[in-house]
Amino acid sequence: MKFPPRRFSALIFLLLLLALPRAASAEPFETIVNNGPPENRVDIAIMGDGYTAAEMDKYRSDIEQFVRLWFEQEPYKEYRRYFNIHRIDVVSAQSGADHPERSRFVNTAFNARYGCEGTQRAICVSSDRVFNVLNNSLAPSQYDIKLVIVNDPEYGGSGGQIAVASTDWRAVELILHEVGHSFGLLGDEYGGSPCTVFGEPLAPNLMRKTNREEIKWLHWIDPATPVPTTTSTNGVPGLYEGALFCNNGYHRPTFNSKMRSLDRPFEQINTEQHIRRIYNFVSPLDASSPEGGAVTLTQGQTQAFSVTTPAPATHALAATWFVDGEPRGSGHTFTLDTAALSAGTHTVEVLSRDNTDQVRHDPEQLLAETRKWDVTVSAATTPTPTPTPYPPGESPVLLMEEGTQRAVALDTVTWLSGPFSLFTMHNFSADRHTRISLFVFKAELLPGESHAAFTARAEDAQQRVFPLAVEYAANAPGLEGVTQLVVRLPDELANAGEVLVSVSLRGTSSNKASLRIQASGSGPP
Ligand SMILES: [Zn+2]
Repeated sequence: MKFPPRRFSALIFLLLLLALPRAASAEPFETIVNNGPPENRVDIAIMGDGYTAAEMDKYRSDIEQFVRLWFEQEPYKEYRRYFNIHRIDVVSAQSGADHPERSRFVNTAFNARYGCEGTQRAICVSSDRVFNVLNNSLAPSQYDIKLVIVNDPEYGGSGGQIAVASTDWRAVELILHEVGHSFGLLGDEYGGSPCTVFGEPLAPNLMRKTNREEIKWLHWIDPATPVPTTTSTNGVPGLYEGALFCNNGYHRPTFNSKMRSLDRPFEQINTEQHIRRIYNFVSPLDASSPEGGAVTLTQGQTQAFSVTTPAPATHALAATWFVDGEPRGSGHTFTLDTAALSAGTHTVEVLSRDNTDQVRHDPEQLLAETRKWDVTVSAATTPTPTPTPYPPGESPVLLMEEGTQRAVALDTVTWLSGPFSLFTMHNFSADRHTRISLFVFKAELLPGESHAAFTARAEDAQQRVFPLAVEYAANAPGLEGVTQLVVRLPDELANAGEVLVSVSLRGTSSNKASLRIQASGSGPP
């Protein structure tokens, strides 16, 4: 077999490369900014090149400085708590970077070199080596954005999958522009030469078409602004000719943004895009309690719900709570009271949304997130009367309907049995509260005693006890050995439903018998 010389040498080179011991180097790292779980944050991994072991203190302070300058700019400043930053400590054998233009070469971890592809300020690094360190040191969720700081004071840097910057701090501007491409998916807004243009660019900040209705960022353009736009005033959204290295044919959204010139803000359209991209990585809902899914409650119970959300610097995300689709509250916590809910299945839903006015168009609803719970409400258990129809000894016996555990109870005005409303139109008393007659055996008053010798109480399904005022006690007319008691229903029983009533005479309690209170309005009719 005969190999053409060129391909043969390429093969030898490849074999040599494969034979090299693969440096599976997990380098130490420190999370210098921790704003939450990497799965729901934008994580920036920063590595250094050309820092010797003796220069690691300088490395750490260089990184701090770079991060500070980066996050002084919008929208990173407002959304700084959406980012985590991990600093990986990579030691190089020698300091600095390669400068082929003056034949200076140094041995560094990522082999940074100026003059990449013929441009002096462009710095190249070995992306294989960078990814080798990243893969071995961090989890994939910890390097959404990758940055290498090169320990060389000459201005320079580059973009792409890995952002590279020198320690000339003007390089922060270069990095923000480059990350605008790699993270923001934005196109270049500068011209350069006359062009024959083809196709519509995908970038959200570039347009070939000039039809006003079709402009991707039309929602930012004031109706009074003409398109194409020719003003040279900054910050006026419109349609400006000149972008994507062409002086003609492609258009940009503002006169001059950071995607056109360094030291400029991103301006409205690119800021909006950055925020949408942040929300591609970060859900506006961090966590909830209960976590989600199904919740089972008994009627009358309450259930606390809560959410945590990421927090922009100067505004808060809005959380709205819905019960069965109806808005019922706002804020990060919500209490569901099942007293007013029917038995059966219901839903509780929360909507967390960033209502920032810096995003006007969010077709994918990236800035909103909902969480839903299926709530099953079971009817309150019907109280089970204590089966003591005839209490031992001389205890009073509350009369029950034959063959049931229901108290013989009559409305004192209408003489109808339950369910009893809390209030009655027919009542003679000023308070309109319903009075009920109960009938008791073995409860005869001694001479000189009054109704004050009796107490009465009701107990609801939650074992809450409500005293019932005893207003009258006397021998029931025509019923030998039966005492008639008149008790008043208190406000607290308004929604009690099924209750157990019992009476006691001189401290000795009767059996408990059931009674039904009708759900009624909250005040006298
Ligand atoms: Zn660019």
